[in-house]
Amino acid sequence: MEALDDRELMDELEAGEAAVELDDKEPQEVLAWAIERFGRRLGLCSSFQAEGCALIDMAWRIDPRVRIFTIDTGRQPQETHDLIDAFRDRYGLRVEVFTPDTAVVEGMVARHGSNLFYRGVNLRLLCCQVRKVLPLRRALVNFDAWVTGLRRDQWATRSNIRKVEIDHDHGAIVKFAPLADWTEDEVWDYIRANDVPYNALYARGYRSIGCAPCTRRVAEGDGARTGRWWWETGAPKECGMHCAIETGGFEHELAALLGGHHAAGTSGANSNGAGAAARNDVASDDAPAARDG
Ligand code: SF4
Repeated sequence: MEALDDRELMDELEAGEAAVELDDKEPQEVLAWAIERFGRRLGLCSSFQAEGCALIDMAWRIDPRVRIFTIDTGRQPQETHDLIDAFRDRYGLRVEVFTPDTAVVEGMVARHGSNLFYRGVNLRLLCCQVRKVLPLRRALVNFDAWVTGLRRDQWATRSNIRKVEIDHDHGAIVKFAPLADWTEDEVWDYIRANDVPYNALYARGYRSIGCAPCTRRVAEGDGARTGRWWWETGAPKECGMHCAIETGGFEHELAALLGGHHAAGTSGANSNGAGAAARNDVASDDAPAARDG
C-alpha cells in the first residue's frame, strides 16, 4: 500500500468542476478521466453484476492494469464466483478480494443464527454491515478514489447521484459513477456488443444479484431491485455500502459485536443526501417460503 502522504485527494471545488465537466460524458470518458487523474490510487469496486461487468471491460480497454476489487460476503451464489473466475481468465485480471472479519461474523452468527436477515430489517442491516459495509470501509483505505456501477434509475435512493462526488462516508475520497445516466438496456447493449461475461443467473430471470439468500428473480414488469430482500416492506433496497442507513436498531448490536470500538459512522445520511430511514419491522418474522421466485 502506498504511503498516506502520497494521497491524491480532491477538494469539493475540484470535484464539483469535474462533476460538471463529466456529467454529459460517456462512461468510457469518465473512466479515462478517473484513471488519468488517480492511476493506481483508483479502485473499481464490482459485485459482478451487469453494470460492474461492463465497467470492468471498459476500464480494462483503457488500462489493463486498472485495479479491480470486490467484497466477498461469504453468502454469494456460486454463479458469482464462477463469473469472477471467468473475468480472471478472460482479462488476466488480479481481482482484489476483501472479506468480512471472521471473529465478527462468528459473533453475529452465534448470537443470531446464519439466516438472521429473515427475522427483521435491523438484523438484515446488521448482516449487511458486517458482511459488506465494514469490509468495504477497510478496502477503501487503500484508495483515493473508487468507481461504482450505480445508476440513477435503479432505485429512488440513487436518483440524485452524480458522476463525480466526494464520498464523505469513506474519508472524503472521490466516488465515480460513470453509468449514472445509463439505463439497464444500455448496459446490456454494451455487454452484448462487446461479448462481456455476465452472471448466469440473469438468464434465469434475475435482474439484480447480491447474496444468494437475499436475492431472487423478479416477475415480468417488476422493478429490477424488487428481487432483493423481497420479504421486507417499507425498507430501502440498500445495504448501506452506497447509502448510509438510519435506523434505531442495528447499531447497538454492531457495537456489541465489535466490542464497542468501531461502531462510529454506521448511520447518517451520506454526501448526496440519499440517506434512508428503515422501518424496524418486516412483512413476516418467518423465513420466506420461496427464495427463488
Ligand atoms: S445481502 Fe443478505 S446475506 Fe448478504 S450481507 Fe446483506 S443480509 Fe447478509
